[in-house]
Amino acid sequence: MLYGVFSDVHSNLEALSAVLEFFGEADVEAYVCCGDLVGYGGDPNECLDLVRALPNLSIISGNHDLAAVGRLELDWFNQYARAAVMWTQARLRPENRLYLESLSARLDAEKFTLAHGTPRNPPEEYLLSPGQFRENAPLVRTWPLFVGHSHMPLLFRFAQGSADKVETYFLADREEILPRTPEGASGPVALNPGSVGQPRDQDRRAACALYDSTRGTFRVFRLPYDVSGAQAKIRAAGLPEYLALRLDYGQ
Ligand code: ZN
Repeated sequence: MLYGVFSDVHSNLEALSAVLEFFGEADVEAYVCCGDLVGYGGDPNECLDLVRALPNLSIISGNHDLAAVGRLELDWFNQYARAAVMWTQARLRPENRLYLESLSARLDAEKFTLAHGTPRNPPEEYLLSPGQFRENAPLVRTWPLFVGHSHMPLLFRFAQGSADKVETYFLADREEILPRTPEGASGPVALNPGSVGQPRDQDRRAACALYDSTRGTFRVFRLPYDVSGAQAKIRAAGLPEYLALRLDYGQ
C-alpha cells in the first residue's frame, strides 16, 4: 500500500494544493495526516474541505486543531499562534468545527500508530531527542509511529541489535529510508514527514512523504509552492506579519 503522509498544514492552501497534486501524480492509495490542519495561515476552511474529501484517510488532531475548537488552553501558545487560533475560531464553518471535534489526539491503527507529538502526550510533547523516543516506545503497539508537531522531517529508531541505543536522522529531500527490520516487519521507528504549511528547517518548500508499506520505504519530498500567495492571505486576514515572513525562510 502506498500512503501519502503529511502533517502541519496550518491553513496554508497553496502548500497543501502542491502536496495533494504530488500525491495524486504518485498514485497514493491512502492518506495519513498527523494533525494541525489549522492555525497560522489564512485558509482554514479551504484546507479542511480538501482534507475531509480525501479517501482512505487516517487522521488525528494537533494542538492547534484542539485549540481552535476550545479543547486546549490558549496559555500554551505564543502570541502569534494565539492570534491565529482566535482568528480561526471565529471563522471555522460549523461542519469544519464538527470535523475537528470528531478527531482523536492519537490513533492506534492496525498497521501503524499516529500521534501529533508523542504517544504519551500527543498534543504537546515534541519528539526531538533519542531519550524521548526510548521513553515513548513502550506505549506504541503498532509500528511505524507517524508524528508531526516539530515541523522537522526526522526519523528515530533503535540501532540494529539494540533495544536501547537510538539513531536519529534528518530526512533530506528524496532520500530513501528503509524503516523495516531485516526480517521484513516494521521495527520500532518514528517517522515525521515535516510540515506542509510552515516548514522550520530553513527550507521553505512544503514537506510531505510517501510510505510504501510493502517495500517498507519512507521518502520525504520537498515541493516548491506559491509562498507569496500564502503570505498575501495571511496579510489580508490581518494576522501577525511574522507569520507571513517566516514562510520565506522556512522558520
Ligand atoms: Zn504544527
